[in-house]
Amino acid sequence: MTLVSRNDYDLSNINLINFHSIIRTEGEKIVGLEFCVNHRLLPPIISHDCLYCDGLMKPRFQARYKFGVRFGCNKCEKVINISQDTWFFNSKLDIEKNLLLIYLWTMKIPANKVGPAVGLNKNTITDWFNFIRDVRRFI
Ligand SMILES: [Zn+2]
Repeated sequence: MTLVSRNDYDLSNINLINFHSIIRTEGEKIVGLEFCVNHRLLPPIISHDCLYCDGLMKPRFQARYKFGVRFGCNKCEKVINISQDTWFFNSKLDIEKNLLLIYLWTMKIPANKVGPAVGLNKNTITDWFNFIRDVRRFI
């Protein structure tokens, strides 16, 4: 069962009022994770060939994993974080805060106004906004 309809993925439907209802954590299920996979910000959560051997990497779900899931090989036991090679890899923030910061940056909300919404100080937000701006230059 999916928690969000296809229309919820239409980015034009997102505004600051409904942001949290679309990108939210429901119990142990992170809707933001599904959102990111559907928008190709994270890889599909399906089994795939192992990068290190001829085994199969399968998704493993546990709350303690970053974003609640990672891939593990059934043969060589190597583990890959779902965020590897993505925007989120080095981020210590959860998906919701990552997406919220990107959204607020696109809305041109000044860093000093963003703090209360995301619970981060102005300097951290300024660093994030600079990072987003730098990444955007290469997209
Ligand atoms: Zn392997």
